[in-house]
Amino acid sequence: MTDSIDSQQVCVVVGASHAGSQLAVQLRKEGWTGRIILIGAEPHLPYHRPPLSKAVLSGEKSVAEIALRPHSMYTASAVELRLGERVEHLDVLKKTLLLSTGESIAYDKLALCTGARVRKLGLGDQLDGVHYLRTADDVANLKSELVAGRRAVIIGGGYIGLEAAAVLTQLGLQVTVLEASERLLQRVTSVVMSEYFQQFHESHGVKIVTHAHVTRLAGEGRVCAVVCADGTEFVADLVVVGVGVTPETSLAEAAGLEVINGIKVDQYARTSAVDVYAAGDCTWHPSALYGHHVRLESVQNALDQSRVAAANIAGKQIAYDALPWFWSDQYAVKLQSAGLLHGYDDMLVRGDRRNNDGKGFSVFYFREGKMIAADCVNRAKEFIACKRLIAERLDINRQALLDENSAPDTFASV
Ligand code: FAD
Repeated sequence: MTDSIDSQQVCVVVGASHAGSQLAVQLRKEGWTGRIILIGAEPHLPYHRPPLSKAVLSGEKSVAEIALRPHSMYTASAVELRLGERVEHLDVLKKTLLLSTGESIAYDKLALCTGARVRKLGLGDQLDGVHYLRTADDVANLKSELVAGRRAVIIGGGYIGLEAAAVLTQLGLQVTVLEASERLLQRVTSVVMSEYFQQFHESHGVKIVTHAHVTRLAGEGRVCAVVCADGTEFVADLVVVGVGVTPETSLAEAAGLEVINGIKVDQYARTSAVDVYAAGDCTWHPSALYGHHVRLESVQNALDQSRVAAANIAGKQIAYDALPWFWSDQYAVKLQSAGLLHGYDDMLVRGDRRNNDGKGFSVFYFREGKMIAADCVNRAKEFIACKRLIAERLDINRQALLDENSAPDTFASV
């Protein structure tokens, strides 16, 4: 492969995670014959991020075991992997990048796959025992503190917080989840799902407190309590903060690219600057399916959008219009969600919404009679059927959706 590389053309990919790694390898498959340089700030071989709050946190897997692809695959694709290096500055007029090492690199095409970074609490984050959960290094630090019997307070009842709660509880810690809003998962799902996850975690011994507005992390040197606005204090041996992420757009913003809720790209993954593309968590992109711009935090989006970006960098013109989907693992439950539910005007529940019978259940969301989203708890076949219903905007067979005896392949009306 290296013999046929045209060193006159250079594509640089910034950010070596799901989007960046996929884009670099795919670009070669798309027939790009120039150099491909993949630069990532993290020192590790690009790895799957979701297991960090699941199998890596629980100790079932090491970071080495969750590599996205072996080192040999980058070599085979003639992708020049530069890890542990940060791009500090982008000049879109000169088409150059400045690295943390002081080196300057010129590009012909550039892909920004800079992802997202954790939103900081800003209330005593510097205290020992306060953890965030985004990178392999974050998890290594947190894991060293996980001793059975310790009291862990998790701030934030979103997916990351709840996955951490499940693992920590299973490791024997006493876990309290503090959620500022009136219910868990409020930003991403319906009351039905929030109620299910609340009772599910409580049945495993997790204490859940909603309307909990954290105002201070108390402690000298090391955190010892979390203090809320109403004066309630939660004693803590350690704290995990999971209050969301913000897109990593600093490089793009400083370079004058259009940034709204993420780096603005069109359906071809092109930014507002010539020859600069972007993909993954960092983008604010149009969704033809939903008719507005979205920013997604999911592996599916990172992979699908980076494949489109790679094809377009290589000279094609392919529009990105993939259905968003997501999953979360908590205890023995796999939640799979398809589509975006915002703006739904009707909902159906198939199965026992409390999952008391252990057979799982699904919640379907509709707008103007069409399914726009679905949450499936341990119901993989229904999730697959719903992905098609939503993506292809098919008419639905309501009776089949409600009747537990109807197979998922009858969900579409004929
Ligand atoms: P990121 O993974 O954020 O990677 C961006 C990379 O760019 C980082 O390595 C960063 O260091 C690097 N970078 C940024 N700026 C620069 C720079 N200037 N120079 C060099 N490098 C730079 N999604 C799911 O679909 N299902 C799940 O179950 C799920 N679970 C998750 C669990 C956890 C704990 C976390 C943190 C996320 C989870 N996600 C899950 C979300 C998913 O991991 C993200 O959507 C995905 O990682 C996005 O990939 P990305 O490549 O766009 O960005």
